[in-house]
Amino acid sequence: MIPVFHTSATVRAPERLVLRGGRWARVSLRVRWGLAEHPAAGLGLIDLGYGPALFGRGGALGIYARVLRPRLLRGGAWQEVLAKKGAAPEDVSWVLLTHLHADHVCGLPALAHARLFAPGVTPGLRHGVFPALLPRDWPSCRTAYESLPHLPAPLGLPEGADVFGDGSCLAVPLPGHAAGQRGLVFTRCDPPLLYAADVQWCAAGLAPGRAPGAPAMWIADDRYAAGESTRLVRRFADGGGDVVLCHEPGKGTYDA
Ligand SMILES: [Zn+2]
Repeated sequence: MIPVFHTSATVRAPERLVLRGGRWARVSLRVRWGLAEHPAAGLGLIDLGYGPALFGRGGALGIYARVLRPRLLRGGAWQEVLAKKGAAPEDVSWVLLTHLHADHVCGLPALAHARLFAPGVTPGLRHGVFPALLPRDWPSCRTAYESLPHLPAPLGLPEGADVFGDGSCLAVPLPGHAAGQRGLVFTRCDPPLLYAADVQWCAAGLAPGRAPGAPAMWIADDRYAAGESTRLVRRFADGGGDVVLCHEPGKGTYDA
């Protein structure tokens, strides 16, 4: 199973806020999500990016959308990419969520029929999780990664949840940015691919001393754990693995 990543939206931010020693000039952070076809489990999505569900809301979610002002890319939402392939939301059999921040779950209620995999912890509003974006029967409708059998993961990563029971995709704990955050290792890619979600914003931030400090770190759930997760991902990359981050501005080999 080899995922392809699409960009749902971009968010502009001064590089210095997302990369220590970066410029004050703004960079366009991508908001990726992935599509993959598992030979037995069928068509699935990996995070969901931003989408129209974010807009026209009141309350905290409305404020969030007005402050971050993401720019949705035409044709980049998961619904649009599926439609272009002649598929409907009902054709999606599974969804792997790395964590539940708004930029990873837009449109999730339309996928409530699918098998939903997510971390076992559901943090609240204060931690950037908006119940309005989740299915009404959350969290009982999701399978927690923690409840699945775990297998050893390559290149120094901790053991990961064997999502499909065949070792092809391992959800490894990479907490810090969000409580319970998981990265996804696609072991059949050569070299193995780690979708490391939001361990860092930019690939350059994985290098020693380049992770941003305040204010980017203020939103981290656990700064110490975030540092440890960055080290794990760096070790995986140094060992020859491929890494995809959700928000890296540059286009990579796994991007559509
Ligand atoms: Zn994110």
